[in-house]
Amino acid sequence: MTRLCEKRVVIVTGAGRGIGREYALMLAEHGAKVVVNDLGGARDGVGADRGPAQQVVEEIRAAGGEAIANGADVSDFQAAAEMVRQAVETFGRLDALVNNAGILRDRMLVNMTEAEWDAVIRVHLKGTFAPAHHAAAYWRSESKAGRTPDARLVNTSSVSGIYGNVGQTNYGAAKAGIAAFTIIAARELKRYGVTVNCIAPGALTRMTEDLQPGEITDALREARSPRWIAPIVTWLCSSDSRDVTGRVFEASGRFLAVAEAWNRGPTVDPIADPNEIGPVARRLVEEARLNTGMDGKLLDGGLED
Ligand code: NAP
Repeated sequence: MTRLCEKRVVIVTGAGRGIGREYALMLAEHGAKVVVNDLGGARDGVGADRGPAQQVVEEIRAAGGEAIANGADVSDFQAAAEMVRQAVETFGRLDALVNNAGILRDRMLVNMTEAEWDAVIRVHLKGTFAPAHHAAAYWRSESKAGRTPDARLVNTSSVSGIYGNVGQTNYGAAKAGIAAFTIIAARELKRYGVTVNCIAPGALTRMTEDLQPGEITDALREARSPRWIAPIVTWLCSSDSRDVTGRVFEASGRFLAVAEAWNRGPTVDPIADPNEIGPVARRLVEEARLNTGMDGKLLDGGLED
């Protein structure tokens, strides 16, 4: 087996459980030295327990790999700086950061509390920005010192963000924001030798188990295992992926796909009088491609119920 990430140093956030844990294990199997970050909280983000990250570290070490645990809350700007410093001080460098940590607080818009909104926006958006900022500053200083990085930033979006899911205005807004963040950061960091890509994963984890209708069978667990997402992330963290940046990949046990961006649709000259807008706006909407449903396919007949 070719080890794709031999000696590369990678931070994976939220790697104590679920999808992030699979990333950490596969990256280590492919030779990466892994910083396993995990807050160790409950599904809604409450509490903190170093256990899950340490367990993943022990699993990696038992298999002959190298890893250390980190208990930072990714949305804590200072703790995120220390996490990047810990990677560099322990392993001598940082080659990739996988921003994967996340929480859910699903609620219809009319019932959503301010706290539910703030928590999801904080963990996903600030929890992507803070580690990415410190990693990017490190890579820029490496570049300025003449050691051009071959570095990777991999973020985590969701079909909820790029296509839209009812009951998740907070989560979907954060995840759409992360997709936009990815495209902008890819443009900004190209000059420093850093690629920036994004995953919209699908898997049965603590986050999604109780959203699954019907019985969870062994066959379903296998079909929706998070291990199907780890291969694309392992490749994106490797040197081999240096020519791919600014992309959102959908990955699950069902398929691997690239999401296509917003495009400018039918266009007319600007209209000064709002009284003239109606028929023109309707014609533009009729001529434009429809929005997509949660499966990423064009909706037949407009918005879902
Ligand atoms: P999960 O099993 O709940 O794992 C999420 C991980 O993030 C946990 O290990 C959690 O740690 C950690 N975490 C949460 N808040 C954190 C914080 N502030 N700082 C550090 N770590 C924190 O969920 P998952 O399904 O693997 O989700 C992984 C990512 O994929 C998330 O970004 C999620 O939104 C995204 N996603 C998942 C699916 C899916 O089908 N599963 C679909 C779309 C997107 P503790 O709980 O130990 O604190």
